[in-house]
Amino acid sequence: MNQETFDAYLLAHRERLLEDYKDFLRQPSVAATGEGILEMAALVARRLASLGAEVQIVPTVEDAPPVVWAEIGEGDKTLLIYNHYDVQPPEPLELWESPPFEPTIRDGRIYARGASDDKGELVTRIHAIEAWLATQGKLPFKIKWLIEGEEEIGSPHLHAWVERHQDWLRKPDGRPLDGCLWEFGGFDEKGRFVLTMGVKGICYVELHAKGVDHDLHSSQAALAPNAAWRLVWALGTIKDASERILIEGYYDHVRPLTPQEEAVIAQMPFEEEEIKQKWGIREFVTGVSGLEAAKRLLFQPTATICGLSSGWEGQGTKTVLPARAVAKVDFRLVPNLTPELVLDLLRKHLDRHGFSDVEIKFLGGYRAALSDVNSPMVKAAERAAQRVYGQQPVKALLSPGSGPMYSLSEFIGGVPVVCAGIAHADTRAHAPNEHIILQNYYDGMRFIGVLIDEFAR
Ligand SMILES: [Zn+2]
Repeated sequence: MNQETFDAYLLAHRERLLEDYKDFLRQPSVAATGEGILEMAALVARRLASLGAEVQIVPTVEDAPPVVWAEIGEGDKTLLIYNHYDVQPPEPLELWESPPFEPTIRDGRIYARGASDDKGELVTRIHAIEAWLATQGKLPFKIKWLIEGEEEIGSPHLHAWVERHQDWLRKPDGRPLDGCLWEFGGFDEKGRFVLTMGVKGICYVELHAKGVDHDLHSSQAALAPNAAWRLVWALGTIKDASERILIEGYYDHVRPLTPQEEAVIAQMPFEEEEIKQKWGIREFVTGVSGLEAAKRLLFQPTATICGLSSGWEGQGTKTVLPARAVAKVDFRLVPNLTPELVLDLLRKHLDRHGFSDVEIKFLGGYRAALSDVNSPMVKAAERAAQRVYGQQPVKALLSPGSGPMYSLSEFIGGVPVVCAGIAHADTRAHAPNEHIILQNYYDGMRFIGVLIDEFAR
């Protein structure tokens, strides 16, 4: 590639591209409420079509946000790009310094809901491809681009969509695509550029305990079963005070790290003391530290009570014996420990411990995904990072968060993934005052251009 003409184009068109970024941010697209979703899908489709891509807006299920699908470029080599056009709800509004859907620039940062997650990465990629086409000619390979509208509510229809359109997500002869550029990524607390190759899975459930028919006067407690106690006892069988998860068979599905993965974690910076300070704790659970703590964070499954609700939760006293109790529990999952397995193991576990009456409601989940840490996709991103940021990027194996990566990697033949984006550590995704440092957006466009160049090799 001719880096000079590419960079010059981005500089010459900076104001117009920034206005385009703002247009994306002005359009609300809240998956949780449906606000602006169809308008946003149309805007994304129009913008991709303006690059010369073949674009379709493809339904998932009736009334649910559609997928925007685009193809651009020619050749056997194919890069899959995954983004999402939906955003989290902007509330609480009073904590925003400028309105969430009026993009505002302050101190070299652009503030708006979605500025980072995920419209920032989406426009960075669109703008880089525009600059490539304008200055380098045709793309050196084919790009297939999937932009969904339900990521922020757990991508409930994406896997079924992928199942229906598997042929789109493979080469004409059925071989898997050559790489996938994932939606998110960016920089750590120390400003180091980070690449990850996977995500943990998740299984999110509600546990419902029932006692008596309706709430009672607590004076009846000597005779009446209490749903809150029932739930607490059931929860108590799931994990003990030494942080060991007691669901029979749970750890059987945790595979050992490969030597390659071990090496990646060992090289990964892990700012242990800073994390503890930020969280206001003296030590991590179980007293784990150093390399073992990093491994535990990335490669051990969890069982987390996210919320507990029963009886009287207001001020002062109310002597009530609750008839119902609910716990929201999430399990963060490692490769091989699937949401289906967890549901099955959890049901058997509760039954075995005498809690057949505690109902499990499945609220959603993803499998974990982890692709080769040294794939050509990752290598191309490493070389691009060196060229643009002048540093060897941090490789962080996988994100302890979750996303629908399995459906777009392992499920379609094993597409190697890399996560590379423009967010900095304090980007406030999902929170008020979400923003992107403009310099990261400018550099991010150059990174994508150079990544195209490197991936073509
Ligand atoms: Zn998000």
